[in-house]
Amino acid sequence: MECFIVEESDIDQVAGTLTLRGDEARHAVRVLRISEGEHLVATTLRGTCYKAICQKSGQPSKNEWVCECTIDEMLPEHNESRTDVRLIQGITQQQSKLEEIVEKATEMGIASISPIFTKRTEKRTITRERLERIIRSGCKQSHRARMPVLSDAMSLEESLDRSRSEGRSIVILHESAPWSDALAKFLPKDRAAKVTLIVGPEGGFDEGEVLLARKFGAIVASLGPRRLRAETAAIMAVSVTMGLSQLLNAN
Ligand code: SAM
Repeated sequence: MECFIVEESDIDQVAGTLTLRGDEARHAVRVLRISEGEHLVATTLRGTCYKAICQKSGQPSKNEWVCECTIDEMLPEHNESRTDVRLIQGITQQQSKLEEIVEKATEMGIASISPIFTKRTEKRTITRERLERIIRSGCKQSHRARMPVLSDAMSLEESLDRSRSEGRSIVILHESAPWSDALAKFLPKDRAAKVTLIVGPEGGFDEGEVLLARKFGAIVASLGPRRLRAETAAIMAVSVTMGLSQLLNAN
């Protein structure tokens, strides 16, 4: 079943209908040939998904597409994790690496992403529009009800201060951590925990940055004895955390 983004203004709860418009309708009708009677999922990206059935689809005018549906079922917080995971990610030199991290973290259920500039990052800015497009696409792919929050680029210290003030558990991933200090060991066993994971850019963190993180209450953890690329480390850290969350919420 395909998933599309629907504007809240195009949902009529009383009538039990919703309408896809714009690019989403064009993609549904012209590209995927969604037609009358077909089932689909619509997400507001603001916390609600809907199972819906297409009743009418078409192109009322040259540049307008619509897909009118009846709502079959409302799914609040559909496919959203109860564990609130934030990834603080050193901005990678290669944009494609950051995009890969953002895409995979979105599919795995991350709640927020904070790109940071550090002593060894070459860049201090991000291409927000493109990253948000990748996040939206990741949400459609994984049928998520809520879009992860992408913050502006900030310093490591600012990102640490925010996480501490929100009472989040903070773990900085560092390749020189004893590999017995496995990430999973430090993750809170509370189903509704708020966890911040910090992963460095290609050049990693310097010891001063690790010390700063400790000052903000961060635990330094390992992803094993092998030195991982930044994107591998970020994806592994999120998957370990989301996997534990899945286990906790399954029992
Ligand atoms: N600083 C190292 C260097 O000079 O090559 C490698 C940095 S690594 C490419 C980028 C980031 O991935 C690190 O800052 C760390 O956050 C994470 N990382 C890589 N391997 C790791 C491991 N075995 N355990 C924990 N974190 C790791």
